[in-house]
Amino acid sequence: AIFQRAHFLSAASGLDHAPPDQGAEVAFAGRSNAGKSSALNALCHQNRLARTSKTPGRTQQLIFFQLDDQRRLVDLPGYGFAKVSVAIKTGWQQLMANYLAERQSLQGLVVLMDIRHPLTEIDRQMLAWGQDGELPLLILLTKADKLKRGAIDKALHLVRRELTDLPPGSQLLAFSATKTLGIEAAQSWITAQLAH
Ligand code: GDP
Repeated sequence: AIFQRAHFLSAASGLDHAPPDQGAEVAFAGRSNAGKSSALNALCHQNRLARTSKTPGRTQQLIFFQLDDQRRLVDLPGYGFAKVSVAIKTGWQQLMANYLAERQSLQGLVVLMDIRHPLTEIDRQMLAWGQDGELPLLILLTKADKLKRGAIDKALHLVRRELTDLPPGSQLLAFSATKTLGIEAAQSWITAQLAH
């Protein structure tokens, strides 16, 4: 039920502009087009919540959504654009690495990857930052409705085999925002992290 109460709190270009580092938050990271906005909207049962994150000028910011006065979800800037400048790429890496390493209230990281093209180089970078920080990871293989059951299982197996050494508390799920697959499991995981 807390998910339904999600609302935009603020956008920050860096940690110095972020809300006070208290309470608990879970952050969402994914290559652009991985389905991050759709997942946030589906998890919060709101059609337009994560649209804020796509406002031009906000695409390189941390977007904070408040659930209640102690709990937040954070939409991290998308990554993996094919043609961004080196300056933007460096800025993105610094913002992400800094946020993931420094943010005390961060209790878990959701990493979203298209189930048809998981584990690109940039996904591995993302996962490595989470692993370095011993952050529990929720890995969502998105758009699972695009595959049949057998292919879903194959993708899950492949990713599980590649990702040994995940931090304790980590979980891997097939997910679909449109066919509502994995939503309740993802909500349970997030709720559990936010209770820490
Ligand atoms: P973001 O850039 O990571 O925020 O990705 P979006 O949520 O905007 O989704 C990118 C594209 O993938 C859009 O065209 C969505 O409609 C589509 N998409 C997102 N989630 C799903 C899903 O679960 N199933 C299907 N079939 N398409 C999806």
